[in-house]
Amino acid sequence: MNPEEVLALKKAFSSVLERQSRNQLADLDEKKRRLKAARELCVGNRALLDEAAKKLTANGFRVYFASEKDEACELILREMGDEKHVVKSKSNVTKEIELAAFLGEKGINVVETDIGDRILQVLELHPSHPTAPIAHVSAKSISRRFNEMGVKVGGKPEDIVGYVREDVIQSIGSANIGITGANAITVEEGAVVITHNEGNIFEVARRKKHIVVTSTDKIYPNLEEAMNMLKVLSYNATGATIPSFVEVISGVSKTADVEKKFIKGVHNPHEVVVIILDNKRSEIARNGFRELLYCIGCGNCLMHCPMYNVVGTEYAQDSHLGGRGLAFHSLSNGSSSDKLKCCLMCGKCREACPVDIDVPKIIRELRSKGISDEVYYFLRAHLLWACYRTVLAVSRGHE
Ligand code: SF4
Ligand code: SF4
Repeated sequence: MNPEEVLALKKAFSSVLERQSRNQLADLDEKKRRLKAARELCVGNRALLDEAAKKLTANGFRVYFASEKDEACELILREMGDEKHVVKSKSNVTKEIELAAFLGEKGINVVETDIGDRILQVLELHPSHPTAPIAHVSAKSISRRFNEMGVKVGGKPEDIVGYVREDVIQSIGSANIGITGANAITVEEGAVVITHNEGNIFEVARRKKHIVVTSTDKIYPNLEEAMNMLKVLSYNATGATIPSFVEVISGVSKTADVEKKFIKGVHNPHEVVVIILDNKRSEIARNGFRELLYCIGCGNCLMHCPMYNVVGTEYAQDSHLGGRGLAFHSLSNGSSSDKLKCCLMCGKCREACPVDIDVPKIIRELRSKGISDEVYYFLRAHLLWACYRTVLAVSRGHE
């Protein structure tokens, strides 16, 4: 990440932090306590996971468990049938399994429909925040990169959003399959809960077939607890006290209006498939790191992490950002990331975390497993250089 990108990232973080201080979420402490209790009850609870799968199936979903990334990708490929075009919305689990690249290699055109994700996809950039993936790229820089590709787009945020929206709308219209993630799967109702601000998920989830790609740690006891989580998520991720839209999907389109005969697929979707990925989560929970899976993906820890604020995605591995991301990446890949040595052990991430994940404690444990001094010194030098470039860029900005 270059200094300009780090500065753009810091600017985006400041605006969210400012919105958080302006919009107080009522009873925030109580909401966080309730959320943590729900996570403690559900994460790593196999009986609740099986109950959720049973309820989803009873509601007409087809449910599959995938233990590894490859298995999840193969299941999705099988669901694609002869289709060569699919639209998708933001999903950290699809990033984790590198689904777009996998399907692309199989000749399937995958189009991201969130504005930020589509820009990342077209410009081949990496995300810098779980809910604001292009926080590190300014509108001017996006416009310049589009123009270099021969696409004329103005330099104002409105110009860029307008252009990308048209591109996305056309792709959605011609797709029969839509892929989304899920913020929650509820046990009591057997429902998939997805939140969004852009409105694209209305369209993506209304293709003939809707494939939901989620993970074993997204289980909540019921809709009430899922809604509580969404409020905390929205506030911590964007500073808004409630997201624009919440989708609750508890079945396919159906009617029994004529002679009480039950007919499926009146509108879309005709089919909903839910793929639940484990990818070492059971092992992580069993091995004493269960609290790492309480994460709701709000990204608040990143906004408070001094290391991430100075070096950005240098302090990340693939799509796993910051201290929590690096710890999860290490555990799910079976080897400690060298970058864990760069954590300052300041605890700012824990203070900012709505579910109180003790990331420094987990990192301390992981890095005690040993990283050579050479690697450590190399990384420190690399990060110091990144800090120096950012400080230089800031001081030039003040000249
Ligand atoms: S403890 Fe480590 S990961 Fe957490 S905020 Fe400090 S530097 Fe970042
Ligand atoms: S670790 Fe905590 S603060 Fe960071 S993304 Fe997860 S829930 Fe949010």
